[in-house]
Amino acid sequence: MPNPGNLYEKALTPLKKAAAVLNLEPDVVEVLSNPERVLIVSIPTRMDNGKIKVFTGYRVQHNTARGPAKGGIRYHPGVCLDEVKSLAFWMSNKNAIVGVPFGGGKGGITCNPKEMSAGELERLTRGYAAAISKFVGVDQDIPAPDVGTNAQIMGWFVDEYCKIAGKSIPGVITAKPLDIGGSRGRGTATGRGAFFATLEAVKTYKIPLKGARVSIQGFGNVAQPIAKYLFDLGCRIIAVSDSTGGAFNAKGMHPEKLTKFKKKTRSVRGFPGSKEIETIDPITVDCDILIPAALEGQITKENADEVTAKLIVEEANGPTTPEADKILHEKGAIVVPDVLANAGGVTVSYFEWVQNRMGYYWSDEEVDEKLKKVMAKAFKEVYQNAKQYQVDTTLRTKRAETDLRTASYLTAVQKIVAAMQALGRI
Ligand code: NAD
Repeated sequence: MPNPGNLYEKALTPLKKAAAVLNLEPDVVEVLSNPERVLIVSIPTRMDNGKIKVFTGYRVQHNTARGPAKGGIRYHPGVCLDEVKSLAFWMSNKNAIVGVPFGGGKGGITCNPKEMSAGELERLTRGYAAAISKFVGVDQDIPAPDVGTNAQIMGWFVDEYCKIAGKSIPGVITAKPLDIGGSRGRGTATGRGAFFATLEAVKTYKIPLKGARVSIQGFGNVAQPIAKYLFDLGCRIIAVSDSTGGAFNAKGMHPEKLTKFKKKTRSVRGFPGSKEIETIDPITVDCDILIPAALEGQITKENADEVTAKLIVEEANGPTTPEADKILHEKGAIVVPDVLANAGGVTVSYFEWVQNRMGYYWSDEEVDEKLKKVMAKAFKEVYQNAKQYQVDTTLRTKRAETDLRTASYLTAVQKIVAAMQALGRI
């Protein structure tokens, strides 16, 4: 995997670009560049062999001017403070772009969930929930899943939290199982939201969808639904990969069969009728739409030149380094950035939080309709900002309206700064 290196510094690059366009004071940029709170906890966990293993967990609250912190929890061997800080920073911006009343937060534990039993994962999750319980809460900081975590882990977390609190507070975490207050549509929300953003992008930039060749890196929670929605509209899923390898078929692969195959074999490698490719190959295969949906730092200055896609929809957080972003922009590729493209997950998490607080639950159709509206509105607002601020001046290209990343940060930063001003914090 390409090493993103210095991730947090790189994560701040679009903020700096947006700040220059908006003429923000350096002290305001300084405030936005530093998380409000960083928590590091150790979690002693009894393993199945009877021994205690101490794991390191993190929770970062980046900015809470617009509301309680909100963002997922990642279980992965690569989790480190720099990564969690970056993810929390992206959440502040993402939440502002889609207009949900949250600040940004994120958490993680350095562990390999693939090598742990269900019992070990449960004990680790309960230990983490207890360790951070004083710092999270329905009006304080609301976690959710991310890479390596799922609805079951949310269930253990909420159970432990509520035991400590001595009452039922389902809204403390989102993307829970339906039986304990999860929202309809949350499981597929990130993919569904990215699909709605893709529809806006192809309409805006007049990119044909029927027959479009789609390549996806990382075939997990967020990738599987969008593959299905695009396939249903006549796209061809020609390449997919996961951490074990990849599958390529120029004629296209059936996404639901791929999902079933991966569930059974735990890999997309060896999918019937496909050619084996490497985990990184979907980034550079000849395609029309590229969907990075794995981890950060995958499109780099080393491979960006080889990207052929006209449209890149970032379902993963931070998949493109700033150097690569510049190369893609100069090539004329349209990049729907992570903070916009994958905001469907947190949008339905917001719906879940609202439903938990009301104790009144919506149908699949209601959730889907509301999500569609939010994503379409966010895309249009970002696009308008791209046009209004002519944001390509910093990149020196002719296509002012295509730098959707800087435009997304312009949209977000203005909202966050307005909230900080209204609170008298700056
Ligand atoms: P996941 O664990 O379900 O899926 C990740 C997939 O990526 C897995 O199939 C894994 O095998 C694969 N992968 C890991 N390393 C890889 C590599 N080097 N090359 C190719 N594939 C690799 O996680 P997810 O929830 O689908 O999250 C994926 C991305 O989407 C992350 O960047 C996450 O932050 C982002 N995201 C997730 C949500 C959400 O609601 N889950 C919301 C917004 C953004």
